[in-house]
Order: sequence, then structure tokens, then C-alpha cells
Amino acid sequence: MSTICGSDLHTISGKRQEPTPIILGHEIIGDIAALGDGLEADGFGQRLRVGDRVSWSIMASCAACFYCRKGLPQKCTHLHKYGHTGCNEPPGLTGGYAEYIYLFPGTAIFRVPSSVSDEIATPANCALSTAMNAIETIGFEQGETVLIQGAGSMGLNLVAALAEAGARQIIVTDVNPKRLELASGFGADFCIDIAASSDEEILTQIRDQSGEHGVDVAFEACGASVAVAQAVEALRIGGRYLIAGLVSPGSDLGIEGNQVTRKCLTIKGIHNYRPEHLGQALRFLEQNCARLPYRELVGSVFPLAEINEAVRVASSGKHIRVAVRPTH
Ligand SMILES: [Zn+2]
Ligand SMILES: [Zn+2]
Repeated sequence: MSTICGSDLHTISGKRQEPTPIILGHEIIGDIAALGDGLEADGFGQRLRVGDRVSWSIMASCAACFYCRKGLPQKCTHLHKYGHTGCNEPPGLTGGYAEYIYLFPGTAIFRVPSSVSDEIATPANCALSTAMNAIETIGFEQGETVLIQGAGSMGLNLVAALAEAGARQIIVTDVNPKRLELASGFGADFCIDIAASSDEEILTQIRDQSGEHGVDVAFEACGASVAVAQAVEALRIGGRYLIAGLVSPGSDLGIEGNQVTRKCLTIKGIHNYRPEHLGQALRFLEQNCARLPYRELVGSVFPLAEINEAVRVASSGKHIRVAVRPTH
């Protein structure tokens, strides 16, 4: 199974440039059809066998180059990203919207826990794994107050993981009331529809919720650069801000530099994640998916023959995710 990510839709619309022809799809799970030489255990150390249901990292890296040695395998000099490379070059089958996919050496592979359904497990190698990286990178501590900007796939996963990690107060902003309702189901304490409020009203509501000093930590997971100024205002002195969603060019941050200095803010960026974050994501789902509304995230499942309809429904924004299930 594959789920259609926002970045796939950006590639289709031309907002994002990728080589063509291409097989899109990087949020994938599959059954092992054949095993390469020397591939014996998964990232949990469990034996891998033909027929196992597995998830894998969205990229393969070499473990030896400058960035791999710096702890940034997602920026490997020899990086392969599934669903992002042209299919004219052998092995060709490197995207999720296909019956078979070839996994490169250097891919982190994990057996999917049996209690986690296909629909819930499939997107875990994108948004939830990135959320795990975001929480680790910003150094979240139990009892902190949090602002999460955006209740899409990454925002909702951040809500779930931060609630479980012991956040004292989780405030979520989005422009879509339906998504904010979902955020409440995942553990948000307070939601703000930013389309229905002025900047001042938004800030007042955040202050009312978090206390007069402002929030301890904020996460940008909405892809809109206007969010940055809002977070810088909402953070307390000494607060930390993690930017994870500004992946498109042209994101001018529009903030007063002196606010960063005078408020002693820490601002960090992340892109993707390291292999162990996918292992954490799958364990998190194993332990928590039954009590959270994860089932509501994938709204429809289409066979591969109906991929165009799947893309149309995904573009409508009606669901957090739409899935494609190739059969063979
Ligand atoms: Zn994705
Ligand atoms: Zn490398």
C-alpha cells in the first residue's frame, strides 16, 4: 500500500521539480517478495523473511560520506529517495505506485507490528517519523507547553506523540475546522481556527492558554511562512522553535531579528529523519494507535488502476491521506 503525500501532489502540479518519467510514492509498506544477499535482520534486530510485511525509510544512504558521518544520512551525497528518482535508470522500480519496488542497500527496513493495520502503518515512514525527529531535535521535556502550527499529517502526529510524552498544554492552529477537530481527538488541549481570528486574537488566545510568559516550544508543520512570525510572538523568552514544514522555495520568514536576539530564542530546522525515528514511529503506533483516531486519517483506498481518481480525491483535501493498493 502507498499513501499520497502532499509532496507527490506538488510534483504532479509542477510546484516541485522531479525527473520524469517517474514512479511517485514514498509512503509505502509492502510484503517482501525476495531478499538480497546478506540482508538478515530488520532495524529492530528481528529476522527478515520472504512474506514479511515491512516499512522502510524514505531514503537509502551510504553510511560513509561526509553527511552520513555527521549524523545526517537524509543528506547523504549518494542519496536515493523513493518516489523521487526517474525510472529510466535501472532498477527503475523505486516508487510506491507500483506492484513491486526495489529497495537499495542502505535502506532501513522494519517489520510492521501485526497490530498496526496497513492504512495506519503506510504513512508512518513520512510524517510520524519526521515528528519523532522534530521532538528529539528541539529537546522537548515533559511538562512543557507546546504550540503546533498545522493539523495536517505531521501536526496531528506531533500532537499524538507530544501528548504521550507528557506535554502540559498542547495548542494547535490551522485554517481547517475539521482538522482541528481531529487534533482534539489526538490529544490537543486547545485549538484555534486562524482563518477566523486576527493575529492579535490568536496571540491573546495562546497567552490565555499557556500563561503570560508564552509557550515553551513551538513546531511549524503547516508549510506557510506567515506562521513563523506568529510563533516568534507566542514563544516565551528562551523558547525553542522547530521549523519542519517550509519545504517550498520562496518562504521569506518575515520576522524581526531583534526579537530572536532579545527573546534568546532557539530556532532549528529539520528535513526528514534518521532510520531510528522510523523504528520509534512503528513502536509508537503499536502502543498507541488503537486509542487514537488514526483510522480516520486515510479516507479512501483505491486500486492502482484508479490512480488518477486517487490523485483527484487527494488533491481535494477532503482527507488527510488517500491510499493506493496495488495488487498482484
Ligand atoms: Zn510524505
Ligand atoms: Zn552517505
